[in-house]
Amino acid sequence: MHELSITQSILNIAVSSAQKEHAKKVNKITIVLGEMTDFIPQYIQEYYNIVSKGTIAENAELVFKKAPAIARCLDCGHDTHLKDYKFICENCASQNLKIISGKEFFVETIDID
Ligand SMILES: [Zn+2]
Repeated sequence: MHELSITQSILNIAVSSAQKEHAKKVNKITIVLGEMTDFIPQYIQEYYNIVSKGTIAENAELVFKKAPAIARCLDCGHDTHLKDYKFICENCASQNLKIISGKEFFVETIDID
């Protein structure tokens, strides 16, 4: 389960930034998750509840924001929202595409007290 290591890094980021701010508690962590990643938010939350025990980020709420899978056509410049793993420009049917969004995974904001 590769969610476990990613969950550990989310926790590390939350704890270290909370400590930097001298916070007592982490309330909420907002995570941006690209549509093209295969992480399952439910697993991340379950792992989080385990690894965060006893830390100042224990019981924080994890909020996942989905980043759409967008590819830019290198032939016509059109941006296509990729669906069903079809890697094709919806404007000109070119397959000469560059992914510009959808692979991201990062902690966007951390709410602390
Ligand atoms: Zn195109």
